[in-house]
Formats: sequence, C-alpha cells, structure tokens
Amino acid sequence: MTSYDPMIHDSSRGLLAEAEKCLVGGVNSPVRAFRSVGGSPPFIDRGEGSRVFDVDGNEYIDLVGSWGPLILGHAHPAVVETIVKTAGRGTSFGAPCRQELELARMVVSLVPSVEKVRFVCSGTEATMSALRLARAATGRTKIVKMAGHYHGHGDSFLVSAGSGALTLGTPDSPGVPPGLAAETIVVPFNDAAAVEQVLREHEIACVILEPIAGNMGVVPPAPGYLQRLRGATLAAGAVLIFDEVMTGFRVGPGGAQERYDVVPDLTTMGKVIGGGLPVGAYGGPAALMDQVAPSGPVYQAGTLAGNPLAMAAGAVTLSLLADGEIFERLELLGSRLEDGLKTTASAGAGLRVQRVGSMLTLFFTEDEVNNLESATAADHERFGRYHAAMLQAGIYLPPSGYEAWFLSAAHGEADVDRIVEAHRKALDQT
Ligand SMILES: *Cc1c(COP(=O)(O)O)cnc(C)c1O
Repeated sequence: MTSYDPMIHDSSRGLLAEAEKCLVGGVNSPVRAFRSVGGSPPFIDRGEGSRVFDVDGNEYIDLVGSWGPLILGHAHPAVVETIVKTAGRGTSFGAPCRQELELARMVVSLVPSVEKVRFVCSGTEATMSALRLARAATGRTKIVKMAGHYHGHGDSFLVSAGSGALTLGTPDSPGVPPGLAAETIVVPFNDAAAVEQVLREHEIACVILEPIAGNMGVVPPAPGYLQRLRGATLAAGAVLIFDEVMTGFRVGPGGAQERYDVVPDLTTMGKVIGGGLPVGAYGGPAALMDQVAPSGPVYQAGTLAGNPLAMAAGAVTLSLLADGEIFERLELLGSRLEDGLKTTASAGAGLRVQRVGSMLTLFFTEDEVNNLESATAADHERFGRYHAAMLQAGIYLPPSGYEAWFLSAAHGEADVDRIVEAHRKALDQT
C-alpha cells in the first residue's frame, strides 16, 4: 500500500476538513473561515509581491495583505533578508537589544503624539494596555467607544465591536462579565455631540476610537469631528486614545493623527509596525507613559515583547516608509482603484466606494456610510455573492463586507486594472 500524505496532496477543501478536526472552526481567527460570505477559504501556500498562491494551484491578486500589515507586499526582499539575518543570531533573549531601540526611535520620530513607546506582541495587547494606563492615570473606570469600532478582543472592547465580532453578529461575546461591559459606554461614530454629552454626565477615563474606522468597512471621520473630540476630552480630563493599529503607517508615515492634524494622548499601533511579524505598541507623552512599569506602578509585561526578530522586521519596513514616497504612490493607485470601481455605469448603481489612501471598502448601498447603522444597511448578502465571483476571477478580497481592502507598494496599475475588470464582470453576475 502506498502511503498518502494529505498535507502535500490535499486540496484547500481537504485541508479544511482536516483542520476542522483539530483547530477551532479550522482557523485561528474567525473571519478567515468565510462564514459570512459562504464558500470555503483557500489554503495559502505562498505569497509574492501583490500575489498569493493557494495549495490548489490558483493565483490571486491579494487585497487582504494579512489584514493590513503587508504594506510592502508579500516577501519583500529587504524584509526577508533582514529576518533571515536577524534570526541567525537568535530570535529572542528576553533582554534589551539594539533592534527595539531602533524601532522605538523611528516610532517616536514619525508619530506626532509619541514621546515614549512600549512594544507588545499584538494590537489587542496594545489597546488593553493603553486602557489600563488611561484608567490608572485618571483614577476613573468608565470608557467611551464607538459602535462598530474594533480594538482587538479585550473584554472591555467586545461591546458593539466591529470586524469579526460584527461579521459573526455577536458583538457582545459570552464570557465578558456584565459588570465590566457596563463600564463601556457606546456612542455612534461621527457624532461629537453624543461624546460631549457622555463626558458631561459621567466621569470618563478615556475615549477610544479608530480615527478612520476600518473594521466596519472604511468610514472616514467627518470634518472637524476628531478636533471636537480632542477639545471635549481635554476639557473633561479624559484620555483620548487613537487606535491606529490599522491606520498607523498605513495612511501616511505619521498615521491618521498626522493626516488630520489632531494629536491624541495615547496611540495604539500594530499591523504595519511589525512588517508582517507579530508586533503591537502603545505610546504617548513621557509623563503618561512613565506611569508604566518599571518607571511607574501600572503593570504590563511580555515574554516575547521587543524580540529582535520582530523589531528588525518592523524597523526595515518603517525605514522604507519614512520619506512618504510610497504613500504618494499608494494614493494614486488607490484613486485609480476607487475610480475604476465607481465608473461601472448602470451596473454600479447602488454601490459606494469609501477610501482613505490605500484602504478602501465597497459597500452595496446608495447612501453615504458614516456610522455603524449605515454600514449595516448595505446589502451584505450581495457582497457575499460578489466576493465569490471575485475569488473565482482571481481577486482575493476580505471575506466580509465590513472590512477594509488594502493595496500595497507591490501592487501596480496592471493589478488595479485587472481588479476593475473582474469587478465589472462580478457586478453583472451578482
Ligand atoms: C487589527 C486591529 C486590532 C487588533 O489587533 P490584533 O493584532 O489583531 O490583536 C485593534 N485595533 C484595530 C483598529 C485593528 O484594526
């Protein structure tokens, strides 16, 4: 009898069936399972530039980019070379290393609000830690978040959260203590008056938001909205936290705070900052950050935090982004994609494209999407059919209508034109 190795010979479907026996839902992060668009997720074998290749031999133009980190594209030669070189000298020491200093200096010089930074291993950890610091600094417990904004899976944030929680329709997860959830006050995004009212009526530790929402699909801030939040939080003695895990180093070298010229107290970062390896960070003025251990009493630690491998991958990535040239190219490419998706004549009726730089979402709706309510009103069943048609045509989109599509520096005009062509056909089919 010949032996059969399913890991080598099976299809994506076969691998998923095997994975479902030993991984929860066959995946390690819920949206990857394609439950909201239907169909079965391809198992990715490798990535190169703007492309990913699955185990079934299909090639796709990738607009997921590992959900945001891969702004340089897959397997960028400089990033790969740095990782290989660094790994050969040891991947983690649990001791200070040069690479964390190098990345910290870059973050401090690029992000307007950050004088001091602490590295962690994920965006979730960054927001949980920033929240603890805000509560400690103010001596208050209640927080304000925006409906449909996602800040990772920390207990306090799983209240009307975006991203996977929204896609699955379980914004309030079982297992979150009701007493803790009661400390989170949810207001609609882009409604400054609602925040001002909460700040008048309650003692609030912090207001946390995605300055450009990306986890209910891309929803930019209304003109003047971020400025009003800045003013209101200052007046109320509440900490303003910009969760720039998605927008940091994505919409410009200094993130959304630079783009909209509003400086928050604390900033959380992730995704691009790790160059494809697991890194998160939070930072702010020295006076606030020095309340974190070992300088201050607010405890937060990490076994693999600041490991040289991840720090080096982040540092080489940020060094390629620092002069802003890539963002100028991404802006042009983004606008080409936006225009292409919009100018689809009659087939495009009932379709809305919202974009900031290289992050973009297509909503099947006539109306402007400016908060969770309008994002939910879009036709998400049609998005599911559209997603399947695009996948069939070799375009790998996020498997949910509540997510951002990401362009990378590895995408070219020819990629964009192929996406637009597939889009036209997909609209006709769906
Ligand atoms: C992705 C994301 C997070 C969570 O980051 P993880 O690394 O997945 O834990 C938090 N906030 C925002 C805005 C994000 O987009």
